[in-house]
Amino acid sequence: MTLVRFAPSPTGYLHIGNARPALLNALFARRHGGRFLLRLDDTDRARSTEAFAQAAREDLAWLGIVPDLFARQSERKAQHDAAAERLKAAGRLYPCYETPEELERRRKRQLGRGQPPIYDRAALKLTAEERAALEAEGRTPHWRFLLEHRTVAWDDLVRGPAHIDCASLSDPVLIRADGTYLYTLPSVVDDIDFGITHVIRGEDHVTNTGVQVQIFEALDAAVPVFGHHNLLTTADGEGLSKRLGHLSLRGLREAGYEPSAVRSLAVLTGSAESVRAVPGLDELAQLIDLSEISRAPARFDEADLDGLNARLVHEMPFAAAANRLREMGVPDERADAFWLAVRANLGKVSEAAEWWRVVEGPVTPKLDDPALIEAAQETLPAGPFDETTWKTWTGEIRARTGAKGRALFMPLRLALTGLDHGPDLAGLLPLIGRERTLARLAGETC
Ligand code: GLU
Repeated sequence: MTLVRFAPSPTGYLHIGNARPALLNALFARRHGGRFLLRLDDTDRARSTEAFAQAAREDLAWLGIVPDLFARQSERKAQHDAAAERLKAAGRLYPCYETPEELERRRKRQLGRGQPPIYDRAALKLTAEERAALEAEGRTPHWRFLLEHRTVAWDDLVRGPAHIDCASLSDPVLIRADGTYLYTLPSVVDDIDFGITHVIRGEDHVTNTGVQVQIFEALDAAVPVFGHHNLLTTADGEGLSKRLGHLSLRGLREAGYEPSAVRSLAVLTGSAESVRAVPGLDELAQLIDLSEISRAPARFDEADLDGLNARLVHEMPFAAAANRLREMGVPDERADAFWLAVRANLGKVSEAAEWWRVVEGPVTPKLDDPALIEAAQETLPAGPFDETTWKTWTGEIRARTGAKGRALFMPLRLALTGLDHGPDLAGLLPLIGRERTLARLAGETC
């Protein structure tokens, strides 16, 4: 059975760039009847926090992603240690004693000679006595994975046939001198233990894949299918970092964007599909075929969020807005009619609060055409008002005054709402009601 994972490090809030792999995994699982694991890559204890871990779960839930499985790397150290021991026993993980300064000097020397700055495996040649002497000096080793100098090839879900020449890479450090793991090995061990079938992640991990495929093989495990998608960048091609607070998922949520708008932008940018407002996850899952994702960077324009959001709100069924309308104080029995009256005028659902204020008051009427207002007062139909009242009423006023178009509607709008723009008054009038309409026509703030 298909099992995918999204594996953020809880060292910051998730942003729209992280939403892309999260969604591509979740949509892939949906398309293939598979499951989704949320794995927190929290081996960096100094930078990972519980608050960010909790926030990641909340932000994914807001996006509509509810993981089927959950894991934390920090709770799986025993398994990581066991795998490290196996690699050591097989001679694939070897101790190195160089300090960062020594490595840097060596790197500069290599570059000076026009050689690629690849780790020279000097530590592999140390005798047992030399190692003992270094340890007696107080040095503790970091551990490198001995790469086989060969090309690792795979059929990438996004990029098609892909390969990495591992002869051009330094043996990667898997364990730091303080005994903590870099992400590389724990990720493979966890992918093996959970039975991950597809690893879908950003193309910044392509080189890691060359290394990690060798680790899967060294641990005698089946290698999952890999897919590397292009990364979301800003319009001028800049990468997104966790520090871009306003593009964090919570920042976007607080700014009042719909999760569906964020999803549409995060996923459709840089895909074969045009960026458009797609309300549901299932619809989005049907649209996204990983093999059709572009290889060029996925440049997005955050200004597009406003347009996408507005389109989603204009079509949004009442049920999707009901809770928020209740929180704004719109009573349930009028909320449905209110929503249908105002949604076409909203960029964000939160703006409905302002129109509810216009319905309930206080509104300070602007009366700038006394003759027309007088005719309006005299012809106001008896209640209760319904959606035909506006047409009947304005027909009467037109017959009396000869006013039409803007000259007819604008004075009424200014009197009833105090504003020169807003939703269609045919829908608002029954909500404002007869009594309040009369009071506003009389110039009362109410
Ligand atoms: N924690 C890694 C990251 O955030 C996960 C990469 C992967 O999916 O393997 O980049």
